[in-house]
Amino acid sequence: MQRSLEGNALKASVEGRETSMSGTLPRLFWSSLYTDALSEDARFPRERYRLVRQQLFERQLDLLEQVEILSAEEATRADCLLAHDAGYVDRFLQGELNEKEMRRIGLRPWTERMVKRTLVLTNGTIQATHHVLQNPACRWSGNIGGGTHHAYTDFGSGYCIVNDLAIAARVAQRDYEDIQRVLILDLDVHQGDGTAQIFEEDPSVRTISFHAERNFPFRKMTSDLDIALPDGVEDREYLQLLEDCLTREVFQPDLIFYQAGADPLATDRLGHLALTREGLRMRNRLVFDYAAQCQAPLVITMGGGYGEPLETSIDAHADLFLEAIRGDKS
Ligand SMILES: [Zn+2]
Repeated sequence: MQRSLEGNALKASVEGRETSMSGTLPRLFWSSLYTDALSEDARFPRERYRLVRQQLFERQLDLLEQVEILSAEEATRADCLLAHDAGYVDRFLQGELNEKEMRRIGLRPWTERMVKRTLVLTNGTIQATHHVLQNPACRWSGNIGGGTHHAYTDFGSGYCIVNDLAIAARVAQRDYEDIQRVLILDLDVHQGDGTAQIFEEDPSVRTISFHAERNFPFRKMTSDLDIALPDGVEDREYLQLLEDCLTREVFQPDLIFYQAGADPLATDRLGHLALTREGLRMRNRLVFDYAAQCQAPLVITMGGGYGEPLETSIDAHADLFLEAIRGDKS
């Protein structure tokens, strides 16, 4: 009951504002399906999405004055085909993935709503992309989910079925003439192997991945730039490497996707690195400053977070979006 009341209030205030501010606020996309369409028995921490959104409201009482939170809708098959093989996409859409393929993805037990969830989660990133590209006054938008970087052209892996970053990058190139060079900056603790594979022969999309070397995926792909970190790296070293990397970048992107996984946190059970919450906040600020310096619109996706306790991940994910909001005021 509480959720539906909140939903109505949200809708009303968003609609009210749209007439007066013509869509220049950044937008965050979200759907209750991100959580609810996964089985309660899944090992994956499905509550993350609901809890992050809830925390954003709790920590920022005037949140809706600063960002619009809108429902993600379903991506189309045609969009998915921009980054994936038709055979794979169609078998997924028709519920025909085999046992081995589903095991590689995880997220089990599989539910009937998995197809719809995947399309909606993917489109959250696509909708955020359209919003920043259609509103030059808006420097960033994001998805309270997404960053499904382990999905390859023709198979899914590591909780990822299709690759929202890759699909949204190609949607941007297809739909906007002035968007040609796209940077995907992947700071999740796991390598963006699917993204690297999809763009391995496409110089228009630059892939950068900072990740823990001795972590999943154990067979790494080759990104345009891989920074493979030993176990236990702390804030200072990580931030120095990131700053050096961004300072040296010469790519000049027209659009940046940021996979902002919270799993480099020391408390993450799938992590291997030892960053603090403050370290992650500083990491995010480096990325926001870099995007501003490039004058490139930024699309933020949430990425992984498997903290123990889970609240440590929720705090860090919420920090990400709140910091982006604060950055708009400075
Ligand atoms: Zn991860």
